[in-house]
Amino acid sequence: MSKNLIKTLVTLLMLIVASYFIYLSSQTTRIDQASDNSNMLNYCDTIEIQKNLFLIVGRHLNLEKSEADVANALIYKKEDMLYIIDTGVTLEFRDALLALCNSLKPYKQITLINTHGHADHIANNIILDKLEGDIKRHYISTHDLNMMKDNHAFFTHSFETLSPLTTLYTNASEKAVDLLKLFKPLDFQTSHTKTLEEIPTLDLNIGNIHWSGWNIDDTLYICRSQGHSAGHVVIYFPEEQHMHLADETTGYCNLFHDCDNLKSIETQTKTLSMLKNNTIKTLTDGHTFKVHHKYDGISFLSQLIEAHYIYDNALQEILRGHPNGLKFSEIQEELSKNPTLLKLPKGANPNPLYTQLMLLSKFRDFGIVPDREDLANALFNFRS
Ligand SMILES: [Zn+2]
Repeated sequence: MSKNLIKTLVTLLMLIVASYFIYLSSQTTRIDQASDNSNMLNYCDTIEIQKNLFLIVGRHLNLEKSEADVANALIYKKEDMLYIIDTGVTLEFRDALLALCNSLKPYKQITLINTHGHADHIANNIILDKLEGDIKRHYISTHDLNMMKDNHAFFTHSFETLSPLTTLYTNASEKAVDLLKLFKPLDFQTSHTKTLEEIPTLDLNIGNIHWSGWNIDDTLYICRSQGHSAGHVVIYFPEEQHMHLADETTGYCNLFHDCDNLKSIETQTKTLSMLKNNTIKTLTDGHTFKVHHKYDGISFLSQLIEAHYIYDNALQEILRGHPNGLKFSEIQEELSKNPTLLKLPKGANPNPLYTQLMLLSKFRDFGIVPDREDLANALFNFRS
């Protein structure tokens, strides 16, 4: 081999190594920038995610302080149209929404979409009637319409499923009243409500990912996710390549009686693929108070997806170790001592009630059943 050839090869190798380190450092900068951004987001802050696309920042549930959780909302202005995704709860959040909408005038058409019917996403829907516009539309899935209209009935039903197994309350309806006190006033009613299912459904093809859903003015794709609740939707802005996952990422396991954990995992994995395929530039959800960019979005979703399986396997291992089964409270106790689970990312509302509802939802998922009708004393396990 000639000296010149060796020299060229060495130079080439050095260039490759240098480019690799430059690539690595550029990735770190992007992750750091995204993390830095997140630390600045406070309750009721308004963040411009991309041009004319805004995030209004919510807050977590705080039972000790009697503070309702407030879901993030999005506002988007395009030409003479204004789009509002969810309206949160509390009067100060309502003021923040109204102030932003008024600052974006003029517009003629206003479209409000509720990702689902839980109180923390719908309580300020009344702003649609307060804002000036020639044409107004309000959409929610038919599967969440009753929930939106009667959150008390919804939560009573969910809490009743846990009543025989918990010592946290004795009366499910009173517990629901107690919780919903925090969410007043619940001004969800508008004079423009229609169900999404009245619009023709489409195969929404984004890159190589397909969603079933609705195309609103070629501006929003409303994708059916139906994991966190029976009618849950996630919102994609095709021009901006922004995805809003609302409550499909509130934890590694859902809570309520109408949830479907598999559909949440599917929503998370489809979104993860879109981030990797560069069809999502920015990502938000209902209860993470930050804007995710590509790399921290991938990390956020990967951890969440992994956590589903870690939790499932921990639960199965406990039951395998007790062939006769365990009481609900004993399984709960075992899970709470598991060091691996303690390290998992916390859901939006880590409190004892929601942890117990989560376990019950996993029982439904895997067919973990009691050995007798008296649930308080029943032993739970897989039964064939
Ligand atoms: Zn929710």
